[in-house]
Amino acid sequence: MLTGAGCSTESGIPDYRGPETARRARNPVQYREFVAHPAARQRYWSRSLVGWPAIARARPNPAHHALAKLERSGHIIGLVTQNVDDLHRAAGSARLLELHGSLSRVRCLSCRQEEDRAAFQARLVEANPHAVAVAAELAPDGDAERPDELTRRFVVPGCLTCDGILKPDVVFFGENVPRPLVEEAYRWVEESAALLVVGSSLEVFSGYRFVRRAKELGRRVVIVNLGPSRGDALADLRLESKAGEVLPRVLDSL
Ligand code: NAD
Repeated sequence: MLTGAGCSTESGIPDYRGPETARRARNPVQYREFVAHPAARQRYWSRSLVGWPAIARARPNPAHHALAKLERSGHIIGLVTQNVDDLHRAAGSARLLELHGSLSRVRCLSCRQEEDRAAFQARLVEANPHAVAVAAELAPDGDAERPDELTRRFVVPGCLTCDGILKPDVVFFGENVPRPLVEEAYRWVEESAALLVVGSSLEVFSGYRFVRRAKELGRRVVIVNLGPSRGDALADLRLESKAGEVLPRVLDSL
């Protein structure tokens, strides 16, 4: 079982490549840029300050709930997600691999100390009271558009333990998914009769590789997605449906 951003659009979190995604140019931060340049961190955190509350407020939708129930009924052995919004956990999915981490935590790049993102939000707001009231347009994964002037004045608090650089505990562009997570996900594919993909364009290789592995192993691949995906040619069954509508129906029919 593999999910992507399309599983959370019905919870109000935009995806990257859906039919309703604004066709605006986006420029997500690269790992090396974030580590090397204070200005990149100011840009990231000033945007995240306004993007985070919408992520924190989002609640699981019928797709998340159906998937959690399918796990409890033994139809799903585990859920691999590319999402960083914690909604599968909130819905009760227990055997969960978060390939790209979670926005709910930040981690120090020096001492590895973890801080809760909600607590860090309070520190961001305290250090930047002027930044809170500026209107922003919500972009995917807890990001938002911000004026340059505001970004330049933005104060980024350091780690509470060592004052090191804090980074959201997610995999940035230019970083790799930790190998043990990938290996565990491959094992789940091996153990399963079929791989169900929900709400992913599969453009990102870190998800697409599991579809390829499933086919190499002779497993069936079922894709539930609005619009085309890179896995379509490999799929045994493709449903052009909203995840939040079709998954509860699947559950009812079992
Ligand atoms: P993607 O944006 O590339 O693809 C999402 C797909 O889901 C699109 O094809 C879209 O048409 C489809 N879709 C949208 N709403 C749907 C619905 N209700 N039902 C069924 N399909 C629907 O997303 P991706 O493949 O996950 O890759 C994006 C990357 O960005 C991932 O690495 C992920 O970590 C990150 N991301 C995460 C979130 C999140 O955590 N919610 C949001 C945006 C991006």
